[in-house]
Amino acid sequence: MSLEPAIRPSRFVTPHLERRIRVSFEFFPPKTEEMEQTLWASVTRLAPLAPEFVSVTYGAGGSTRERTHATVKRILDETALAPAAHLTCVAATRDEIDKVIRSYVDAGVRHIVALRGDPVEGVGARYAPHPGGYRNGADLVAGIKRIASVEVSVSAYPEKHPDSPTVEADVDMLAAKVDAGASRAITQFFFENDLYFRYLDRVRARDIDIPIVPGILPVQNFKQAKAFAVRCGTSIPGWLAARFDGLDDDPTTRKLIAVAVAAEQVIDLVDRGVTDFHFYTMNRADLVYAICHLLGLRPEVRAVA
Ligand code: FAD
Repeated sequence: MSLEPAIRPSRFVTPHLERRIRVSFEFFPPKTEEMEQTLWASVTRLAPLAPEFVSVTYGAGGSTRERTHATVKRILDETALAPAAHLTCVAATRDEIDKVIRSYVDAGVRHIVALRGDPVEGVGARYAPHPGGYRNGADLVAGIKRIASVEVSVSAYPEKHPDSPTVEADVDMLAAKVDAGASRAITQFFFENDLYFRYLDRVRARDIDIPIVPGILPVQNFKQAKAFAVRCGTSIPGWLAARFDGLDDDPTTRKLIAVAVAAEQVIDLVDRGVTDFHFYTMNRADLVYAICHLLGLRPEVRAVA
């Protein structure tokens, strides 16, 4: 009697043999020398996976303007990776933002992730655009496109942005961003794949045809991820909380569970036709590297300069 299963379940098929999987990685600019070393070790570890691009966030209210620029510049100078610089329009005039756009372009940046950003008072406060500034994400996309012909990615919210009265209003904003020139949307992180596909149906029903790339957050620290999720409107399913239950003081097991949870999520997305993934790395490589390996990605020599 053979012990081989008669039919291999699709989730055990090595995905890269079937379709090309593309990934991108998000980092944040480091505050200290130690954080810089952690970031750079992560970039070096993940670079050989040949991501489509790596993005660098822009701190709330423009607080990391110089550090974002320096990180992007270092990626350009020291690797063969294509960096995407995040930019928000909070608390700044158009002139100030336009200067930042030009400085990115002059440095060689060809991809900007354009965002409205959160109010300076913090998430939950009422957002008021700067009187002389860009009003929202769509307005900023148009501003960038007026200055340079760079690729522009924007945000998307499968579970609705907390400021948005309805999902339809959210999709209206995405349509406005696409009309202004955005060619990719990256989603806020989510844990229930059905929410992503429901959102995708609504977006496609509006004839928005740009890629809506799922943003995947490997849960390195459940407490932190939960607090973050509450602020940005991502729901935490009961099953997810149950999986991390009792592990607050057990980082080793937490890490193993985190890979299992994220692997289950991305493999289900692949089974349902998704080929592009954006990983919120939190500047750590190990979980993301393992998940990419499960997705069938293998190191390529060409990615490191
Ligand atoms: P928009 O797309 O302009 O708006 C988001 C939604 O809010 C819209 O769909 C609209 O329906 C609703 N809305 C907007 N304005 C109003 C209003 N006045 N009244 C009613 N409804 C309104 N933040 C950072 O600070 N730095 C980053 O680098 C960063 N990177 C991000 C990357 C990704 C992929 C994502 C998903 C988010 C990121 N954020 C970042 C967070 C983002 O700045 C916040 O979610 C912010 O609150 C909204 O910015 P946005 O560009 O999505 O806004």
